[in-house]
Amino acid sequence: MTRLVRPHLVALGLILTLCGGISLGLDALTINKRIKSDVEYLASDELEGRGLSTKGIEKAAGFIRDQFKQLGLASGTSDGSYFQYFDVWLSSRLLKDKTSMRITGPKDSVEKLTLGEDYQPLAYGGNGTFDAPIVFAGYGITSEEHGYDDYKDLDVEGKVVLVIRREPQQTDPESVFDGDELTEHASILTKMRNAHGRRAAALLLVSDPTTTPDVDDDSLVPVDYLGFKSPLSMPMAQISRKTVEKLLAQTPLKGLKEVEKAIDKDLKPRSVPLTGLGAEGSFAFERVKARVPNVIGVLEGKGPKADETIVVGAHFDHLGYGGMGSLAPKKTREIHNGADDNASGTACLIELARATAQRGVPPRRVVFIAFCGEERGLLGSRHYTKKDPIFSLDGTVAMMNFDMVGRLDEDKLTVFGTGSAKQFDEMVERLNGPRKFSLKKITGGTGASDHTSFYVAGIPVLHFFTGSHRDYHRPSDDADKINVVGIRRIADYADAILQELLEMKERPEYVKLKDEDPHAGMDISSTGPRPYLGTLPDYEDEVDGCLLNGVQPGSPAQKAGLKEGDIITAIDGKPVHTVREYATRLYRCKPGATVTITIKRGEEKKDLEVKLGSRGG
Ligand SMILES: [Zn+2]
Repeated sequence: MTRLVRPHLVALGLILTLCGGISLGLDALTINKRIKSDVEYLASDELEGRGLSTKGIEKAAGFIRDQFKQLGLASGTSDGSYFQYFDVWLSSRLLKDKTSMRITGPKDSVEKLTLGEDYQPLAYGGNGTFDAPIVFAGYGITSEEHGYDDYKDLDVEGKVVLVIRREPQQTDPESVFDGDELTEHASILTKMRNAHGRRAAALLLVSDPTTTPDVDDDSLVPVDYLGFKSPLSMPMAQISRKTVEKLLAQTPLKGLKEVEKAIDKDLKPRSVPLTGLGAEGSFAFERVKARVPNVIGVLEGKGPKADETIVVGAHFDHLGYGGMGSLAPKKTREIHNGADDNASGTACLIELARATAQRGVPPRRVVFIAFCGEERGLLGSRHYTKKDPIFSLDGTVAMMNFDMVGRLDEDKLTVFGTGSAKQFDEMVERLNGPRKFSLKKITGGTGASDHTSFYVAGIPVLHFFTGSHRDYHRPSDDADKINVVGIRRIADYADAILQELLEMKERPEYVKLKDEDPHAGMDISSTGPRPYLGTLPDYEDEVDGCLLNGVQPGSPAQKAGLKEGDIITAIDGKPVHTVREYATRLYRCKPGATVTITIKRGEEKKDLEVKLGSRGG
C-alpha cells in the first residue's frame, strides 16, 4: 500500500492545484506525516486503547491539550487547563467488610455463609439488607404463554425468594419452553423482574442440576455478571448448590435434582415456603467512578459575529482493554487501539485547528472539542450540551464531528446531517465538486456519535464517517490499516466547509427533521428492509427497560403515542431490560407488522399498538 501513496499524491496534488480547491496548504506530504504520527501515537499500546480508567487516556488528553496550546488556541475552560472534567460510572465494587449473609434455622440456629464460596451478591441487585423467611419458588417463572407459574398461590411479599436458574425441560426437544433452546424465562433478568414485581425482599439463585450436575462443580458468577448498574434495586445473590442442598434436605423437597425431575415430568410447579428457614444479609457496593476530561481549545472571533460559535468535535476515548462495547470474539484483556475509532477523527480535529489558527482571527468563534466518554454513550458531548455548555448553545450556529474517518476506500465518504440546516446540502455538494468524494449524504442529524447531542439541542450538524469494517471495536483496529491520505483529504474538505460556515452572512437555518431513521448510513443491517419505529433511545441506560429521549415527528412511534420519558419494558410481551435488548427485539419484528409496545410512563403501565414502518433494503 505504501508504494501506491506517492503517485496517488502527485495526481491528487495536480487535480487540486488545477481546481484551486485546496485549503489546508499545499504541503500535503508534511500534513500526511503529521496525521500519520498523530494516529500512530494515539493508537499506540502506550496509550492503552484510551480506556477511561487508564493512564493512556490522560496521556492522550495531555497530548491534545499540548497541540491546542502550540497552535495558539486558548483554553476553553476558565481555569486555563483546557480540561472540562466530568464523572463516569465505570463499575461497581463489592464492599466485602460490609457484606454478609446468614441462614437462620429452627431453634435459633444460625449458619454464617462464606462470601465467594457459599454466596455471591450481584451488583445488578444493588445495595440492601434483608431478614426474612425463605420461599422456594421453583424456577421463578411466570408464563401465561406456557401455562406455567411458579408463583401460583404463593405470596412472596417481604420474603427471600430462592429460585433455580434457567428453565424446566431444558434437554427435551419437545418442551413447550422452545424445545431444547432456552426462552427468555430462563434469563436471570426475567426472574429478577418477576420477583421484584412481587415485592420480594431478596432473590437467591442456584445453579440448575441440568447444567451443573455435580454439586462440587458449581461455580458462582462474578459480581458484575449482569452489569454494574442496579435499575431494580433488590438484593440478589447466587448461592451455592451445596448450601441449597443442605437447606432442601431439611424439607419434603429433599433435593434440587428431585425437584427438577418432578417439574420436568408434569410441568407442575413445586413451590413452597421453606418453613422454619430464613435468610438475613447485607450487600454493599460502591460505585467506581473515573473523572475524565473533554479537551477544549478556542479561537475567539472578531467582528459583529464574534459571539457566535462553531463547534468542531471528535471523541478521543476508546475501549481500553476491551470489556463493555468490545466485539472481540474472546473476552480476554487486550488493548483495543482504536486507530480508526477515533484516533483518525482526533488527528483530523487537530489539523483543522491548525489550519484555522494559521488563517488568523476568524469572524466567528471556533471551539475545538476532543470529547471523552463517547464509547460509553456520548457522555462527553452530553455533559457539554446538557450540564455545562461553556459557550451558549443558542449562540452555537453549527457543529462538525469526525468519528471514524480513517478508512477512506474508493473515495466513499458518508456525511450525516446534510438536511439538518437549509444551506447544508447545497454547500456540501458544491465544496465536494473539485474534491470528488463519492458522497453518501444522510439528511438526519442523529446517529451513534457526538453530533447527536448537538442536533437534539437544536444545532445544525455535519458528521463525517468513512464506514464500518471488520476491525470495528476489535483489537485489530490498528494504525497500519489507516488511509492517512484519506484523512488529509477529509480534513481539507471539512476545512473548506468550516471556512464557509465562518464566513456565512446568516447563520445556518436549523431544520428539525421529520420521520428520521436513526440507523441510516450505519450499516447495522446488511441486507433487506428493517422494521422502523422512530425512537431516540437514551444510551446511558440506567433504567430497567429502554428510556426514550424522544420520538421522531411523524414516525410510527409518535403516531402510536410514545413520548419522551417513556420507558419501553416489553415488545409483544417479550421483556426489554436494556437498550441493546430493545434493539434486538425490535429488529426481530417484521417491517410493517403491528406490535404491542409496553411502556412505563411515571407510575403508569401502558400497552400501545404500533404499526411498524420499514426502512432500508
Ligand atoms: Zn467512535
